[in-house]
Amino acid sequence: MSRFLKEQYKSLEVYTPGEQPKDTQYIKLNTNESPYPPAPSVVEALGKQDVENLRLYSDPTLSTLKGKLAALYGVESENIFLSNGSDDILNFAFMAFGQKGALFPDITYGFYTVFAELHAVEYEEIPLREDFTIDYKDYLNKNKLIVIANPNAPTGNSRPLEEIEEIIRTNPDSVVVIDEAYVDFGGTSACKLINKYENLLTVRTFSKSRSMAGARLGYAIGAKGLIDDLMRLKFSTNPYNINRLTTTLGEATADAEDYYMEKCKEIIRVREYTAEKLKGLGFEVLPSKANFLFAKSNDIDGEKLYKELKARGILVRHFTKERICQFNRITIGTQEQMEQFLLAAEEILKGEKQ
Ligand code: PMP
Repeated sequence: MSRFLKEQYKSLEVYTPGEQPKDTQYIKLNTNESPYPPAPSVVEALGKQDVENLRLYSDPTLSTLKGKLAALYGVESENIFLSNGSDDILNFAFMAFGQKGALFPDITYGFYTVFAELHAVEYEEIPLREDFTIDYKDYLNKNKLIVIANPNAPTGNSRPLEEIEEIIRTNPDSVVVIDEAYVDFGGTSACKLINKYENLLTVRTFSKSRSMAGARLGYAIGAKGLIDDLMRLKFSTNPYNINRLTTTLGEATADAEDYYMEKCKEIIRVREYTAEKLKGLGFEVLPSKANFLFAKSNDIDGEKLYKELKARGILVRHFTKERICQFNRITIGTQEQMEQFLLAAEEILKGEKQ
């Protein structure tokens, strides 16, 4: 750290992303990417001309991509905001709407505390219930920025729309952000409520169900006023926030909905299969509506299991926070990858019992 850094950033505890090893030898089940490539039409979407056109700036209005997403979700283009990964939207949300403080669960996406600190937003982390679910009653009539991942991460638990709506309805003077990064794997989206509530912002990403984590494309669907606010911040920081290549890939992705929905179905199937097998090995597995499972075994320490799996070429995500340090978060890969993971887990547990 240099002596030139603004005082307020000196104590910032930065977000630690999951490991991204350079070699591809690992079975990578640690950052909730899709095990499937983008749709064939997306793989073929980029040509020489697209690369040559990189000399030109990208479209700051992104009207074509917005139009396609608007049609897909039955909203208007003015209800959509696009960003360089959905992390950017969450960052803007804390920047724009955190003036009265923020609330989110104690066990949730680790970036929320970082954004709150970054923008000097006072925040309260509300403990999940004993069973690691969100109690929606904790969030009623709070009059603060509320940020809820639904399904939640890293637990995978999803709350029904009625509970989410009650939170939105009872906080009319503050913004409610529903982070729907994992909604395509069995959750229920709140985006159908955006015309009913001016305080609702749903946040989505192409990183998980759309097999495009590396392209960095996120979007928000929300009330027009909130989208205007986000546009204000975008045009005050980076008007060309989506590059040309990602824009083209995003458009092709929006046209290939059937392919992605099919892959989501397969991931859900493999998730349920893996959960049953893990339970058979004695794991406690939280019910998940996401593309990952959160599981622990009483036969082995959580961190040790993570390390043993890594030694066998399988990467999962372990968190050190006390309440969840016995768990590991396991991204759902292909059936074959999960068979290898299950085999390794079984072998490790056998070693522990000897
Ligand atoms: N929200 C949640 C709950 C996540 O787990 C992630 C992925 N780390 C994100 C948002 C951000 O995803 P991205 O920036 O790739 O869109």
